[in-house]
Amino acid sequence: MNKPAEATRYRREDAVPVGEAAHVGGGGLALSAAQKVKLRRLLEARWREQVADLTEMSIAVHDLPDEIGRDRQRRVLLELAGVHQRLRGLKDGLARLADDRFGRCEACGRLMPYEHLEAEPAARHCTRCRDA
Ligand SMILES: [Zn+2]
Repeated sequence: MNKPAEATRYRREDAVPVGEAAHVGGGGLALSAAQKVKLRRLLEARWREQVADLTEMSIAVHDLPDEIGRDRQRRVLLELAGVHQRLRGLKDGLARLADDRFGRCEACGRLMPYEHLEAEPAARHCTRCRDA
């Protein structure tokens, strides 16, 4: 993954302060247009990775001998379910980005730091709520 050179170059004065940030208890700043573009690219890149994984896995499943064990089958199904779940998360992320709900923790309403979103663009919860 690329290191957040963008994040360090990002200046606070580029961001627009959000009025309600104070009452939700977070000192969060709204995402700038440039940051949203960057996050959209990250989400799309991850989407492509997952689709590539899915394609590879589908081929692998197709090539599996019929007599593979139950454990192996279960593992393959779990992997497929994982990819499916990540794809859904990324799709949700893109939808949130489109309608401006993006970047806000779904549990506490706080804006997540850009660095967190850059590392985990599909994140729906801030680290505090996620680890709680
Ligand atoms: Zn939270």
